[in-house]
Amino acid sequence: MVRFMNVSKRYGDLTVLDALNLDIQQSEMVTVIGPSGSGKTTVLRMLMTLEKINEGVIYVDGKPLTHMEKNGVLVPASDSYIRSVKGDIGMCFQHFNLFPHMTALQNCIEAPIHVLKMNKKEAIERAEDMLEMVGLADKKDQHPIRLSGGQQQRVAIARALCMRPKVMLLDEVTSALDPEVIGEVTNVIKKLVAEHNLTMLMVTHQMGFARDISDRVCFFFDGKIEEQGTPTALFDNPQRERTQQFLSAVK
Ligand code: ATP
Repeated sequence: MVRFMNVSKRYGDLTVLDALNLDIQQSEMVTVIGPSGSGKTTVLRMLMTLEKINEGVIYVDGKPLTHMEKNGVLVPASDSYIRSVKGDIGMCFQHFNLFPHMTALQNCIEAPIHVLKMNKKEAIERAEDMLEMVGLADKKDQHPIRLSGGQQQRVAIARALCMRPKVMLLDEVTSALDPEVIGEVTNVIKKLVAEHNLTMLMVTHQMGFARDISDRVCFFFDGKIEEQGTPTALFDNPQRERTQQFLSAVK
């Protein structure tokens, strides 16, 4: 569903991603862990086309993200082509980025109406379903300021799901939350994984959460995947010294 092929990203002399190869299968939940500055968020930002790739290609559902094929060669894609491929990707950030002047429901219907051109009635039905899924049906008419951090993050998840993405990206979605509300967000994500068959790529510093829900965990170091495997293999029996050092430091 998502394929990074030899993807490199540099800022001046700093190589942030170094010929990264990563294949994520349909319905797979892949978690990226690693030290600060190892390139985890950059991977997500590249998929959102928020950063330019220096080398390599990213494919989403078989289509190159920033290039299109012309006579068998890849050429830089037009903005409208990039927008259409990007439409398959949903993202939730650490800071929920909800529109403060809109209610939870209005936040959820905005993009389906304006980007997908859905009619308002259908968009409202879909938004109500998604708000119900995240356990916030009764808060749909509240503005973000009246919601707790955990509730705001759940609205942000519902809002992303209203676009029916094929791939969902989660960047540190629990980092800005108070400890007592982290559980309600992780439970929603667990439910998504269990019931919705979504392909997901998540960056987290919460090792317990990564262990609980991932099919595969990738340990990043210096812009490369140093080691990857099932949560049991990676957390209980890491093979590489850097992985062992990182895991013992974060325990
Ligand atoms: P953290 O766990 O602290 O969020 P990370 O693994 O997600 O870290 P990235 O945010 O991907 O790391 O950043 C990787 C490296 O790229 C860092 O050294 C960072 O300083 C650098 N970097 C990121 N964005 C830019 C930018 N716009 N200009 C220059 N350097 C950048």
